[in-house]
Amino acid sequence: MNSHSKGFTLIELVIVIAILGILASVAMALFGETLADTQKKACIANRMTILRQYTMAEARGDAEASSLENYVKWYLATYYNGATTLCPSGGTYTYTQDPLDIICSEHGSLIDKELNSKD
Ligand SMILES: [Zn+2]
Repeated sequence: MNSHSKGFTLIELVIVIAILGILASVAMALFGETLADTQKKACIANRMTILRQYTMAEARGDAEASSLENYVKWYLATYYNGATTLCPSGGTYTYTQDPLDIICSEHGSLIDKELNSKD
């Protein structure tokens, strides 16, 4: 029986473990970027949804739509159990009435996004 055909040598195992480590570090870097990008897109989508709801409530003359800030507070209290933000990264919101905008401390303004282009 040939003793060279049994198992792996230490150097072979070290090389395999090193390659797996390199692959894992690349995968983690890509995952981190994807997660941040997804959180930003979810934040923008959440704020645009609230702005659309506000626009409709304002057109109906709903009492809670007296200002964007009032409406967002009512909306979050009513539909999100009193949450103060819908930003997946934990950003906080500030509001402007003219132009209509919900600004996230992590992801910025909605200006230049689809909803506010009134052209
Ligand atoms: Zn955000």
